[in-house]
Amino acid sequence: MTKDIAITGVTARAFIVPTDQPEADGTLSWTSTTIIVVEVSAGGRTGLGYTYADPAVATLINGKLGPLVTGAEAMDVRRAWVMLRGAVRNLGRSGLVASAIAAIDTALWDLKARLLDLPLAALLGRARERVEIYGSGGFTSYDDRTLQAQLSGWVERDGCRAVKMKIGSEPERDPARVAAARRAIGDTAKLFVDANGAFTPREALHYAHLFAETADIRWMEEPVSSDDLTGLAVVRAAAPPRVEIAAGEYVYTEDDARTMLATEAVDVQQVDVTRCEGITGLLDIAAMTAAHHRDVSGHCAPALHLHAACAIERFRHLEWFHDHVRIEHMLFDGAPVPQHGFIAPDMSRPGHGLEFKHQLAERYAA
Ligand SMILES: [Mg+2]
Repeated sequence: MTKDIAITGVTARAFIVPTDQPEADGTLSWTSTTIIVVEVSAGGRTGLGYTYADPAVATLINGKLGPLVTGAEAMDVRRAWVMLRGAVRNLGRSGLVASAIAAIDTALWDLKARLLDLPLAALLGRARERVEIYGSGGFTSYDDRTLQAQLSGWVERDGCRAVKMKIGSEPERDPARVAAARRAIGDTAKLFVDANGAFTPREALHYAHLFAETADIRWMEEPVSSDDLTGLAVVRAAAPPRVEIAAGEYVYTEDDARTMLATEAVDVQQVDVTRCEGITGLLDIAAMTAAHHRDVSGHCAPALHLHAACAIERFRHLEWFHDHVRIEHMLFDGAPVPQHGFIAPDMSRPGHGLEFKHQLAERYAA
C-alpha cells in the first residue's frame, strides 16, 4: 500500500509562447501567453501542474511555496493545500498567489493519481465520462473572414454546439461582427459573446437585447467588470430571458465565488482551475455553486480541467480557448482532442494523462 511517501521536490518554470496572431478583447490586447509549469516529485513519480500568469509565480513557488511542501505527505493533498493557504496570509491570497497554489495543487493531485497508478478522474470519482466544450476565441483583432473561419471550424470540424466571440473594444463594429459570426455558424449552434468588462450596465443591456434580437445570442460574459458585482446583478436581472449572464474567471478564492453567488450576479458560475487554488479549490467552489442551484463552467486551460470536470455534478461545459488549446497541444503529450463537441479523459493513462515536452518547451523559456 502506498503510504508515507514524502514529497521530494517542487520546481516551477515560466515559458512565454507567442500567439499565432495578435489577439485582443474588449479591454486588453496581447501577442504572447505566459505559462508557469510546476513539477512535484515523490516516490519516483512526477506530478504536473500549470497556470497562466506572470513569471513572478515561478519565483514565488521556487523561493517560498515549493520548499514548504517539500517533505510533506504526497497522499494528503488537502493538508498541503491548507498549509499553503495559511502560509500566504501576509502576501494576499488572491491573484498571483492563488495561481501559484493552483499550479502546485494540480500537480499534487496528478502526482497522487500517478502514485496510485490511477487516472485522476477515477481517483476523484466520475460523475460523467466526457465533458462538452464550446469553441472560444473570436478576438476583436481578427478581420471578419478570420473570425468566421475560426468559429465555423469549431462547429463543423469539432462538433461544438456553441462558440464564443469577443466584443467591446470597438462597440460600433460589433453589430456587423456579431452578424458575420451568426452567418458563419448557421442557425443551430449557439452564439456566446464576451465583453471582458468593457461596458457600463446600461451599455451592456443595450447590446444584450440588440444581439439577442439580431443574432439570438445565448450567453453574455463579463458584460461589466467582474469587480462590479452589483452591476452584473443589474444586467442579469434585466437581460433577455434566453441570454445567460456569466462571470467568474477572476474567482481566486471561495470567498470570491461566495460573494458572486450571494449577489445574484451570474446565471452560470465560471471558474478557472489555474486560478482558484487548484482542483481542491475547484471542487469546493463547485459544491457551493451547486448549493446555489447554478452550473459551473470551466474557464480556459481545458486539458487541465478535464478530469476534475468529470467529477463535478453540475459542470455545464469547458471553454475550448484557442490560445490555450494551441499551447496545451504544443507543450503536452496527451492533450485531449474533441469528438462531436466533447472531450474525454484517456482512462488508460495515470494522472491527468499530460506529459510535459521539456525539450520542445526550452525555446520558450522565460
Ligand atoms: Mg472571459
